Amino acid sequence: MNCYLQNWIGGEWIDGGAGRLAVEDPATGEPAYEHACADAGDVAMAVASARACHARGLLTRMRPIERGRLVQAMGHWIAERTDVIAETLTHEQGKPLWEARNEVVNACRYFEYYGNQAALVEGRSIPLGASYLDYTVLEPYGVSAQIIPWNFPLEVAARSIAAGLATGNACVVKTSELTPCASGCFAQAAEAVGLPTGALHVFTGLGPDAGAALASHPDVNQIVFTGSIPTGQKIAAAASRTVVPCVLELGGKSAAIVHDDADLEAFETDVRRGIFVNAGQICSALSRVVAHVSIHDELVDRIAGVARSLSIGPGLELTEFGPNMGPMISAKQRDRAVDMVAGAEREGVAVVTGGRRPNLPGHFMDPTVLSGVEPGMSIAQTEIFGPVISVLRFNDEADSIRIANGTRYGLVAGVFTRDLDRATRAARALRAGQVFVNEWFAGGVETPFGGFGKSGYGREKGREALMNYVQTKNVAIRIGES
Ligand code: ADP
Repeated sequence: MNCYLQNWIGGEWIDGGAGRLAVEDPATGEPAYEHACADAGDVAMAVASARACHARGLLTRMRPIERGRLVQAMGHWIAERTDVIAETLTHEQGKPLWEARNEVVNACRYFEYYGNQAALVEGRSIPLGASYLDYTVLEPYGVSAQIIPWNFPLEVAARSIAAGLATGNACVVKTSELTPCASGCFAQAAEAVGLPTGALHVFTGLGPDAGAALASHPDVNQIVFTGSIPTGQKIAAAASRTVVPCVLELGGKSAAIVHDDADLEAFETDVRRGIFVNAGQICSALSRVVAHVSIHDELVDRIAGVARSLSIGPGLELTEFGPNMGPMISAKQRDRAVDMVAGAEREGVAVVTGGRRPNLPGHFMDPTVLSGVEPGMSIAQTEIFGPVISVLRFNDEADSIRIANGTRYGLVAGVFTRDLDRATRAARALRAGQVFVNEWFAGGVETPFGGFGKSGYGREKGREALMNYVQTKNVAIRIGES
């Protein structure tokens, strides 16, 4: 019998109003867990409990340094259980065990980082002359709704939970119905460290049911969402009806511009990390390489070499960092990626390596490299969310920027060159929320992350993200004459 996990709502472990859902192991396609499935009634309970927590000031009356200590303690509690949590994550999500361990470690870092900053969310005083004392206070919104995707279920949830709690918001977290299991660690940590009742709720449910109920709930004060553009649009529409702010992180089609003077050997590591980690299911994946004509052919060979060096297999067997890759999340996602590659091939793109599903049970796709891709092709414009990298070519700098900027997205971008002037010009011209110079994914929990264009709005991570969770109150005091 599969292990059954419950939702954490109102300070209790409870069954779901919508029954149970089966969580699949992507490496086999077989059920791995059963999880309670929340319905709109459960969502209403969670929001009511969060509202009550906020109304009673259980988080906000606490001295921020104490609140921050609780947030940090949650991270420590999770860190001590890294191996067990990572195993659950791999089992439900598919990623190699070493990647899952990294994800737990990174998730803990958010609790450390934001826990440390709880006491640093400060207002300012504004001089208005002798007759007034004026100051601002940064107050939490109250109830923060957080809707989480399946690709990095722990990291994405950790960044909003840690920042939301540190600023004094009661957080209502809906995890993805595909990967709800490892996320129970946030609730267990909250329980273990004694977070006030109602300060955190963690549950799963179907997007159009529990997700939609949460996004449209009138007592929610702020929404954080990471996921697809169509779902982001629905959430923003719901937020417009209840007049609450939301942060949307909606994916990308990000390009690395590789100049003729770039360190091509080092770039192989960027390819390894940028598109084949998590089987390419990363919003900020390095999905397009824009290569200078003079190094294009060599670069295609090198990238194909990286792809061919990867062995694929069940994530639970991939325990150490190395040339390996796990399955994709679902048969649907894998078939979509394979079909997109087949479509590109029909348009004249060369499949240098991969493009197929290997003869394995589970949702695997071979690491795939495409060349001869033209900027306007659908394969160069549409997010694949799989282990597929497209190589395009450019002639001059202006051309490279035009191609890199030539999609509706704008999440991240990279430029690889030894020429600092060229790198700086590119950093100015690239239309993206983050620009990496000579290392894909350079940055960390400290650096703001979010998109331009259809990649969304608002920023996660870094100090910027704290501003998502607070609203400014100005207090102007008239001082009487003595
Ligand atoms: P994907 O298509 O990659 O699965 P989604 O954007 O649909 O990504 O899902 C991301 C998160 O959004 C999941 O937690 C999912 O349950 C939730 N979700 C899906 N549809 C809705 C909806 N209509 N309203 C609110 N949340 C939703």
